[in-house]
Amino acid sequence: MASASKSGDATIGVDLGGSHVTAILAGEDGVVSHRSSYDITDLSIGAVVKLMSGAIRDVSAKVASVSAVGIGSPGNIDLRNGTVRYSPNFHWVNVPLGDELRAVLDLPIFIGNDARCATLGEHTYGSGKGVKNFVLLTLGTGVGGGIVADGTLLIGNSAATGEFGHHQIRATDGFICGCGKIGCFEAQASGTGLLRHVLDCAPSFPRSTLLGDKPYDVGSKAIRKAAEAGDPHALAAWNRFIDDLARGIANIIAFLNPDVIALGGGVSSAGDFMLDALRPKVEELTTMAPKGAAKIVVATLGNDAGAIGAAVMARRGGLLSSLY
Ligand SMILES: [Zn+2]
Repeated sequence: MASASKSGDATIGVDLGGSHVTAILAGEDGVVSHRSSYDITDLSIGAVVKLMSGAIRDVSAKVASVSAVGIGSPGNIDLRNGTVRYSPNFHWVNVPLGDELRAVLDLPIFIGNDARCATLGEHTYGSGKGVKNFVLLTLGTGVGGGIVADGTLLIGNSAATGEFGHHQIRATDGFICGCGKIGCFEAQASGTGLLRHVLDCAPSFPRSTLLGDKPYDVGSKAIRKAAEAGDPHALAAWNRFIDDLARGIANIIAFLNPDVIALGGGVSSAGDFMLDALRPKVEELTTMAPKGAAKIVVATLGNDAGAIGAAVMARRGGLLSSLY
């Protein structure tokens, strides 16, 4: 681990996940010098603030001074004060996360949606660096995203622009989404969606050993590896997953036709195995834009994208100021 600058003016980025909170100290070059991570076992605001402030103190102790803290949180965020208006993962409604943290930390605190922070991180240092029109899709438990248009991260009305996960791609024959609709992109093409495809096609593979004794515990990585190894059950589910991912991406191309679409999150570790199957299907479904003009790549910052982007947000004084 490299030592951080002692000259002060450091910014801290925090990623609030469903099962962990991670704080990092990132330099202006995007390199992470220190990190602190805690598992979340209690989703109440008090417990989360305690863990988060602990992680922030851990990394701030490594430098002379900290100028600001940025936090990427799931859900819809009121960017003026950092109140989480709605976060289904935490079952939070109008939770004043920003004010709770300011009460225990004497630091400027900026909060934004986690996927928008990850987009800012990838656009500043990763797969979107130097790209004028960029889209990040994070394929994890859900599908998050963000849009950079003409070099600017889009925030939009109520900071709700870029919720790709909840456009419906199979409104009549899809899985029920966590948001209540049927066949949302997230329900079909997230890591969780991949597992649902596996469960859905299980009756066609009575001799399959893919699911084992605990069918709901099979991870997307294990499914993808089995598909790569030619397991017929995993491959059937994988192909359905790729079909649905291609539908959603082709829709994004129809609306935005960005220069680059980067895929992040756990599933994207499939790399070329995923991209080689995905690209021709997306091209098939791309009608009004030149086929292949929007490049589909794998994101490069991995699990750190959200925290690194949150540090960028802190340096800029909030997501809103990235407009200027
Ligand atoms: Zn939905």
